[in-house]
Amino acid sequence: LVSRKKKPEDTVIEVNGVRIGDGSQSFIIGPCAVESYEQVAAVAEQAVKQGIKIMRGGAFKPRTSPYDFQGLGVEGLKILRKVGDEYGLAIISEIVNPADIELALDYVDIIQIGARNMQNFELLKAAGAVRKPVLLKRGLAATIDEFVNAAEYIISKGNDQIILCERGIRTYERATRNTLDISAVPILKQETHLPVFVDVTHSTGRRDLLVPTAKAALAIGADGVMAEVHPDPAVALSDSAQQMDFDQFDEFMTELKPLVKVN
Ligand code: PEP
Ligand code: MN
Repeated sequence: LVSRKKKPEDTVIEVNGVRIGDGSQSFIIGPCAVESYEQVAAVAEQAVKQGIKIMRGGAFKPRTSPYDFQGLGVEGLKILRKVGDEYGLAIISEIVNPADIELALDYVDIIQIGARNMQNFELLKAAGAVRKPVLLKRGLAATIDEFVNAAEYIISKGNDQIILCERGIRTYERATRNTLDISAVPILKQETHLPVFVDVTHSTGRRDLLVPTAKAALAIGADGVMAEVHPDPAVALSDSAQQMDFDQFDEFMTELKPLVKVN
């Protein structure tokens, strides 16, 4: 059902006035993790200044180590919703437990399924059973075919509001945290009718590569770019090496705005 052969027209997902998939290009920005109301509100203020309509933030954080910050959970979702409502921003946040999908409906405008859960089939089915857009990230070591099949799990349950997100794959290369598979973007656009985003933060893991990889994503035809922004990345509870501070975010937007396609 996600195949372009089945449905030649692009799927367009409307969130907070943004038409994702209609040929225009947009941004999803926000902190890696929700840490406090003040932290999220500070990022929201910058986002609004830059005309951003969708803010991200992790409440349930899938961390490599069980001893690292695991996120604020439902409290984090509540903070996101409150800030989103105050600043007129749509909210996207990752859900890791199939049982939390229903609960998430009260707080988020887009459900994120993370790389580590791309083949959590029960989670995919639960996300397919609701009527809420889903941003599905490519697994750490998933082939494009496996990625497309994961989206098929969601759509097969009736939810066709799916955004695919390339976020880098694991290769032998250690210069970047993951290897951004930029060619996945046109392949996914050709093979499916779904919008495709590129997460430049988790694919590179390097702040100095965010602008060039985002430029590449826009040039190659991605529907949008996701990136992390934090008021003070040095003290961030997760991903402190690659989140942008507000000055870097300003520069990022100044470089990219002229390249964005509008529709
Ligand atoms: C995230 O976007 O918060 C995240 C954890 O990314 P990924 O699932 O791509 O690693
Ligand atoms: Mn992160």
